Amino acid sequence: MPHAIATAKAIQVAVSTRCGVTSPAEVTAPPTGDGNTTSAFVCRPVRGRTIWSAHAYGLAIDVNPFQNPYRSGQRVLPELATAYLDRGRKLPGMITAAGPVVAAFRSIGWTWGGGWTSPTDLMHFSSTGH
Ligand SMILES: [Zn+2]
Repeated sequence: MPHAIATAKAIQVAVSTRCGVTSPAEVTAPPTGDGNTTSAFVCRPVRGRTIWSAHAYGLAIDVNPFQNPYRSGQRVLPELATAYLDRGRKLPGMITAAGPVVAAFRSIGWTWGGGWTSPTDLMHFSSTGH
């Protein structure tokens, strides 16, 4: 299966499981610390580094950032999403290690940033492992 089709199927799983993928209207909203834009291509470096992120090559996707925040030390992104660091509660939009979204991306060889220890990037999936 061509990689683009496999990736599209993994994204379809995120949508079909009512994971709560962001609507187009949310994409154009101004940054407020509660951003929840599901996105793939973003031309930026790795957070805190000078090398290009896998997002800059279109090889990574962030799914539901607010419900699945990034954490590095005391830094949490989006800033207002700290309540979602408690993964003991299962709330709509949360991605879990045993859930269908991780399984769908794993089936196409993508890795999940939720399995990393520092930083922990619960929203992040990539084909590069970074
Ligand atoms: Zn990401």
